[in-house]
Amino acid sequence: MRKKSSVDSKSYYKEPGPQFDKESPFESMMQRFRLAAEILKLDDGLFQYLASPVKQVIVSIPVVMDSGKIEVFEGYRVIHDNVLGPSKGGIRYAPDVNIDEVKALAAWMTWKCAVVNVPFGGAKGGVRVNPHELSQSELERLTRRYTANMLEVFGPDKDIPAPDMNTNEQIMAWIMDTYSMNSQRTETAVVTGKPVILGGSQGRKEATGRGVVTVTLAALSKMGLMPNKVSVAVQGFGNVGSVSAQLMYEQGASIIAISDLSGGYYNKEGINIPEAMKYVKENKNSLEGYPGAEKITNEELLELDCDVLIPAAKEDQISRHNAGRIKAKIIAEGANGPVTANADTMLDEKGIMVIPDILANAGGVTVSYFEWVQDRQGYFWTEERVNRRLNRMMRDAFDNVYGVSEKYKITLRQAAYVYAIDKVATTLKMRGIYA
Ligand code: NAD
Repeated sequence: MRKKSSVDSKSYYKEPGPQFDKESPFESMMQRFRLAAEILKLDDGLFQYLASPVKQVIVSIPVVMDSGKIEVFEGYRVIHDNVLGPSKGGIRYAPDVNIDEVKALAAWMTWKCAVVNVPFGGAKGGVRVNPHELSQSELERLTRRYTANMLEVFGPDKDIPAPDMNTNEQIMAWIMDTYSMNSQRTETAVVTGKPVILGGSQGRKEATGRGVVTVTLAALSKMGLMPNKVSVAVQGFGNVGSVSAQLMYEQGASIIAISDLSGGYYNKEGINIPEAMKYVKENKNSLEGYPGAEKITNEELLELDCDVLIPAAKEDQISRHNAGRIKAKIIAEGANGPVTANADTMLDEKGIMVIPDILANAGGVTVSYFEWVQDRQGYFWTEERVNRRLNRMMRDAFDNVYGVSEKYKITLRQAAYVYAIDKVATTLKMRGIYA
């Protein structure tokens, strides 16, 4: 039998939930991009420039499997834009990943980096493989050959990968080592999301959830709501969901529901989050059987009567099928694309404030930026400094987006796209088109 790889067995291959809309998150992103371009009256040429990636690379990756047989995989790297600085974006390993998906995700990264004002462009990479079918050494050989084939693309001043679906800090360590061996010097800044011992940053693991909470608190304050008086429901209890729940709990909020693949857990008196986290740790990473809460479905969780809803599991959870039944006042998108574009208007008409993914979950890329800065300085910050700077950048980003939403009388989602596209387009105009 094959040894299982170190890649976490995540939920990504699971069937979509019952509310799944056919609309893809990437089409949603393009719809939003078009709308923002209209609001900005973006010049046609600039629109075309920003709609097309600057570079798309497809490589074949031959790997000698443990059996001695050669298998060939396909790998991608798309740089959507590098106007603001070196491009940045994760690498996903998945059997169905393809160049179109990677292209759209790369554009998404451009807007995300621009919203939080980190000096990066957007990129994304992928390898068409089911990593759960590979042994650890096959996974290492695949990663090293993918990196070797991308030596011309990657670089601390050019393009900086990070983990995404089914890739982790071990894979980042192999990328960093392969790149360093080929450039004959240690180049920690070529990837982020590395282990702390290898130039990773303190606070990176918690950064996305922490950022979600910073912007949620900012939104509550705009609505005149006190964090210790609000009820919160969190879908997904992985990295982003559990940290968001924990930090909201520390703010005194009542976390009335949490969930994972095993279903939802509801207690109107509030769930003790540190206890739930301990339970998950001791229960094979699952909430299955969590006591002291009523079992509900993930769909019911989304429709609970609460002040704040944090979808932090996966895409397409709130669509036109259930948007009409959402009761939360604020939705903070911890996950990427949890609300479909078709649901945006319905939520807006109900007066629900949606803090969009490109703002709400940008804490991860912000601390990736800090990691890159620390690697380049060779000087590492304390967790307290990382968190303080993260909070400041997320808070500033929220205020900027909120300001744009007031100026144009548009939703926070439209405002985040307008802010990001305007920033990239203005920088592009200053730089000019090289001929
Ligand atoms: P994770 O694998 O650590 O956690 C995912 C959680 O969601 C698990 O608890 C899983 O059981 C649960 N889940 C999966 N499918 C579900 C479903 N259908 N219903 C309810 N729960 C379900 O992943 P993560 O890193 O926390 O990422 C969650 C989301 O946040 C993803 O959309 C990811 O792209 C996005 N995101 C993550 C980061 C990051 O830094 N980790 C940064 C930006 C965006």
